[in-house]
Parts: sequence; C-alpha cells; structure tokens
Amino acid sequence: MTESVNFIDLRMTGVIPPALYRRTETDLSGIMAKVEPIIVAVREEGDAALLRFAKAFDGVTADSMTLRATEEEFETAFASFDPEMIETLKLAIDNIRRFHEAQKPEEMWMKEISPGVWTGDRMLPIDSVACYVPRGKGAFPSVVNMTCIPAIVAGVKRVVIITPPGPDGRVDAGTLVAAKLIGVTEIYKCGGAQGVAAVAYGTPTVPRCEKIVGPGSPYVVAAKRLLAQVIDPGTPAGPSEALILADDSADGALAALDLIIESEHGPDSSAYLVTNSARVAEEARAALPGYWAEMDEKRAGFSRAVLCGPHGGIVLVKDFATAVEFVNGYAPEHLEILTAEPFATLGQIRNAGEILLGRYTPVTLGNYLLGPNAVLPTNGAARTGSPLCVFDYMKRASIAHVTSAAYPALAKHAHRFASYEGFDGHARAVSPLRDKLLAK
Ligand code: NAD
Repeated sequence: MTESVNFIDLRMTGVIPPALYRRTETDLSGIMAKVEPIIVAVREEGDAALLRFAKAFDGVTADSMTLRATEEEFETAFASFDPEMIETLKLAIDNIRRFHEAQKPEEMWMKEISPGVWTGDRMLPIDSVACYVPRGKGAFPSVVNMTCIPAIVAGVKRVVIITPPGPDGRVDAGTLVAAKLIGVTEIYKCGGAQGVAAVAYGTPTVPRCEKIVGPGSPYVVAAKRLLAQVIDPGTPAGPSEALILADDSADGALAALDLIIESEHGPDSSAYLVTNSARVAEEARAALPGYWAEMDEKRAGFSRAVLCGPHGGIVLVKDFATAVEFVNGYAPEHLEILTAEPFATLGQIRNAGEILLGRYTPVTLGNYLLGPNAVLPTNGAARTGSPLCVFDYMKRASIAHVTSAAYPALAKHAHRFASYEGFDGHARAVSPLRDKLLAK
C-alpha cells in the first residue's frame, strides 16, 4: 500500500483552518438504538441477560461461566504470567499510587473568614465505583492501574472491575494480575452496554455502583449516556489523540516516532506534529514510511489511516507563535513538547490534558508508568476538563459554624435578605422568635 502522510503547509497563510481542530466525531445514533434493548434486558433479566450477551458479543464458547472471576482464575493468571512483566506492573503501580497520594486533598479544612464565622470543606470518598477495563481491541492492565489506584487512594470502600470475558469465559490475565497487585478482588465478566447496565441497576451477582469510570468502545459510551440518570458516568474518554509540538532544535525522525504513539490506537484516533521548522517537518515525513514498514501490521495500519487521513499528519506553520496557537485551539488529550527550552514553552500552553516536557518524556512513558493519570479529556474537553484524578472518586461537603457572638449581626442581614426574596419561613428562623428560643 502506498501512503502519503498528510502534510499541511500553512507558512504562507498564517491562518489555521478550523477543520484542523476537528476530531472523528463518532455518530452514536445507530449504536444508541442497539444499546437500548440491551439495557432493558439487563434491567429485567439480570444475570441471565449478562450470560446471553457474553455469548453473543464476546464469543464466549465455554459451557459454563461464572460472572465473577474466581480465586482459581487469579491463581492461574499469576502462575502463567511473565515475572518480568509483574516487576514492570509493580513499578507502574508504585509511581501511579505516589502521584495520586500527592494529589489527595486534606480530609477537611476550616477557616475563620470573618470574626466568628468558620467555613470550610470536608472531602469524602464516594461509596462505590465500577472501573471499566476494555478488552475488545487488546488487553489493558494499564487501564486497571489508572482507574483503580486513584479510587483506592481516595478511600472508596467498594472498587469493582467490569470487563468483557474472553471466548474461554475468563478474564484477561493482565487484568487479573494488575487488579490483585493493587488489591482489587471483585471482577465481573460483563463488557459493553450490558456491563454498564449491570453496575447501574445491579443484578443478583453484580453490585450496583455509584459511578463508572474508564474508557470503552462506542457501546460503552452510548450506554453511559443513556444511563446518566441512574449512574454517574464520569468524564467520557473518547478516541485517543496527541499533538507533538517541535521547534527547530528537534530531531524530525524522533518527532515522527512519537507521532505514531497515539495514532496506533485505532483509525478513529487523531495525531499531528506541529512545527515551524521545515527541516523537522521533512525529516518526520521521510521517517514515517520506514517506521510503518517495521511495525506490527495491524498497528501500522491504524497509524497510517490516521496520519494519511483527515485527522492527522504534519502541520508546518510560519512561526512558533502560530504553532502554540494551534495547540491551544486544539486542546489535545496528550501534548509532547520537543523544543530547546520545554519549560519556557510550558508557560505558553493553556489547553492540554497532559503536557510531556522534552525528548526523554515520550507519551509511551506517560501512558504506562510515570504516575499522572492517562485517562484524559479528549475532543477538546481539555479546554475545561482535567485528567481522571483522585477528586473524581471523592465529593466535597461545605461546612460552616457560627459562634454566638457573631450570630446577631448576621441574623439581621439574613432577615433582610430573606424578606427581600419573600421567604417568610427563612426570615422567621432568624427573627426575635429565635432569640427567645436561644435564651431558654
Ligand atoms: P470494549 O472492550 O468495551 O469493547 C468490546 C465490547 O463491545 C464487547 O464486550 C461487547 O459488549 C460490545 N460489543 C461489541 N460488538 C457489539 C455489538 N455488535 N453489539 C453490541 N455490543 C457489542 O472496548 P474496545 O473495543 O477494546 O475499545 C476500547 C476503546 O478504549 C478504544 O477506543 C481505545 O482507544 C480506548 N482506550 C483508551 C484508553 C485510555 O486510557 N484513554 C486506554 C485503552 C483503550
């Protein structure tokens, strides 16, 4: 197959075409129609529907399948798992745990904001969360780490994993091993829309959960939207995307190597190298075909589809300020900065889910083991949204306390406010009637 990477030369215009900011917008209307009856079946039939859908959608051929992963499954997974990969998982788990522990807020703060008026916040973990671990396009122990570790650090009492079973009716070994190393032992074999419905409503086997987190296929995204009134769907994490921002100090072949990272997720990903250096752009363009030729065929195919298609490629701009403008307008999920002074460039970035600084910090490291969460806002959501974090597993209650000395002056103003808004009951609660009761 001949491929020609999308090369967008904007040096003459200085204007960024709005089309460059678009991502693959998954049209979920067809999927929604398929997902609705799945949700109804799970609500009405519970476990029986989950077992039926596991056969229909996950190709389970095993004669019998337990919906919950058994102790024997955990043991078998550990026994057959590469010990070196266990070491790698442990290193990733340690970093991710340390990062989220550093991020965890104090349980409570209070401050006297005016004499006798004490106010603050109390942070509490949510009661339960379901972490969705995809399995359709691969095995993702990395998603186990990124979704379960912040939950445990936050103090969530019940952390469960839901994930599609394999044809043998078992959970992926990497998912089992990562979960056990983290301390999560409840894993249920239900993926797609049926998995989301199971934790939204609960079934005799699968517990109802307060919230669901984690990336998934369009069936998962559609089910989260349809069930948003029943379970907190969190921030939906859509198809992966990355920008590589490079100046003339960069090596184009290295920039191309990193441009491939997020483009190999799937044909619906987006990835651009944006640079003001014609040399860097040309070096990257020249390097890509050789890289694809050396790669696993399936992943190279995804990467080619992205970088030769309408949502990826190399963008050459007239100056570095325009490159930065593109980054801020795009608000990428991942941003890698390959400039002479990455920390100086950092000061110019306003919108990005994750910012990786310098040539020794490729997206691969961030996705697996640096510590910060790799479940990130996509499709421009980084303009207002943030990476998955310990706060996503906690809620905040405001707290306040007024001393007897501070009360009278506040009561006078509150009475005036309540009367203005026509709330008689509010006003009476801070009227002389209260003073009499307080004096008893
Ligand atoms: P998946 O495991 O959710 O998909 C498989 C499920 O889809 C099946 O269990 C089945 O229930 C459902 N399904 C499949 N065909 C169906 C049909 N015809 N009708 C009804 N349901 C059907 O997910 P996947 O396919 O592996 O995709 C995972 C997504 O998550 C990808 O887009 C990937 O890029 C993304 N991802 C993101 C991150 C991250 O950290 N941001 C990490 C890994 C993956």
